[in-house]
Amino acid sequence: MSTIAFLGLGHMGGPMAANLVKGGHEVVGFDLVPELLEAAVADGVRAAKSAEEAVAGTDVVITMLPSGAAVRAVYDTVLPHATPGQLFIDSSTISVEDARAVHDLAVAAGMMQLDAPVSGGVKGAAAGTLAFMVGGDDAALAAAQPILAPMAGKVVPCGGPGNGQAAKLCNNMILAVQQIVVGEAFTLAEKLGLSDQALYDVVTGATGNCWALSANCPVPGPVETAPSANDFRPGFATALMNKDLHLAMDAVSTTGATAPLGSHAAELYDAFAAEHSDLDFSAIIETLR
Ligand code: NAD
Repeated sequence: MSTIAFLGLGHMGGPMAANLVKGGHEVVGFDLVPELLEAAVADGVRAAKSAEEAVAGTDVVITMLPSGAAVRAVYDTVLPHATPGQLFIDSSTISVEDARAVHDLAVAAGMMQLDAPVSGGVKGAAAGTLAFMVGGDDAALAAAQPILAPMAGKVVPCGGPGNGQAAKLCNNMILAVQQIVVGEAFTLAEKLGLSDQALYDVVTGATGNCWALSANCPVPGPVETAPSANDFRPGFATALMNKDLHLAMDAVSTTGATAPLGSHAAELYDAFAAEHSDLDFSAIIETLR
């Protein structure tokens, strides 16, 4: 069992740290928000007074922070207090560029480092069933497996540094487009006199099926657990989808890739997020009606 510093105990980091404690690890936590640190202590996490204090003397450092800027700032602060050989795992969703920059910083300081963003949301974090997409070298990944296990449903190696973030951005660009087109299909079906349930029953057994329909159906009725059945309470908030699409669009422009549908989806979510950032992203169907 390992001693793990956990930095960023928010919606995702709080339950992830709690699962590491349940998995038998010793966890030292820090968050800028004192109430979140207190909640983590109730889950068995030992509180540190600063990120530097949390990191000192641990085997592993996990970050679960809001942005690339926050991850860069935390790495700048803690690396001078780390011990060469420590394993750094960043599970925040950040740009591929930031992920590769913090990887280089950590490796230059003598550390092992992985980018390991997740999908599965707050429910997956609480249940310990997150999907980790991991970028970095094989030795670091092997060392990370017993650390990720109590938090993970699956761990997918994606190649070198930054590739976990690349996989995450590509997945969420697909999801954004699918959620819009599923909304378009329900809107069209309603105008053609086809019931929501009939469309759901046909498409979930046909070639148009996808998670945006089968689990996140944007009309209430067919899926009891979908956010649409609960006034579009998230789920996956539009603000977070919009953040991920911005990262994807930055990657499209820096690489010169062609993504006409992803780019249009990003424009639609940008406009929708201006007024409805707190709603589940499937609520974008409302703009189509
Ligand atoms: P959150 O805002 O709830 O948590 C982030 C935490 O980091 C906050 O509590 C904040 O106080 C803390 N923090 C910021 N700077 C810090 C510092 N210098 N030292 C210590 N703590 C600091 O966000 P979240 O929903 O938990 O998401 C975290 C990351 O996971 C984001 O990058 C997000 O994009 C990604 N993510 C979120 C979800 C989701 O459903 N919420 C799903 C997948 C990925």
